[in-house]
Amino acid sequence: MKALQDKIRQDGIVLSDQVLKVDSFLNHMVDPQLMLEVGQEFVRRFEGVTFDKVLTLESSGIAPAVMTALTLQVPLVFARKHKSLTLKDDLYVETVYSFTKQVHNEITISRKFLAPGERILIIDDFLAYGEATFGMARIIESAGATVAGVGIVIEKSFQDGARRLKEAGYRVESLARIASLGEQKVTFLP
Ligand code: 5GP
Repeated sequence: MKALQDKIRQDGIVLSDQVLKVDSFLNHMVDPQLMLEVGQEFVRRFEGVTFDKVLTLESSGIAPAVMTALTLQVPLVFARKHKSLTLKDDLYVETVYSFTKQVHNEITISRKFLAPGERILIIDDFLAYGEATFGMARIIESAGATVAGVGIVIEKSFQDGARRLKEAGYRVESLARIASLGEQKVTFLP
């Protein structure tokens, strides 16, 4: 997606050869027009696939996911991150390793917001090793629902999340695919 690649080139900050910072349009300040175009592009790519809900992880996935859900005219559910929990009876809980923060987080979704048989589109801001997406997929499947697609705003293709997800049988659509963050610059896959 050209507008997204241009924005990443212009405003993305390469923190290391592993991490890209995009806090001026996605992760802290949000560019709503670009997020709307991101949502519309996901819907275009998944044309012909039906979804009952969009699922993401708080907080950075919410902006692109809400625009996707708006365009699809379906609800958005976001998984919540918790450090520790006492009351878990009405929740789905999975443990997810956070690549950027290097901690294990418990992610939770209220049981009342996922129903058996539903077809879910997972949206996330970044794909690195696939931990967050696999965590959400485990919850969806334990609810008896189906992962009907995975939409990623920025895929770091040099980390192995995309490969792992595709090997597990999920359809992954990534709007910007980064081949490398070496030499302090962003190089996209063609
Ligand atoms: P994964 O779970 O695929 O290993 O990592 C994806 C998650 O970690 C995303 O939800 C995102 O929040 C965070 N993440 C991974 N890599 C980056 C990065 O380079 N920049 C930012 N801002 N977040 C990242």
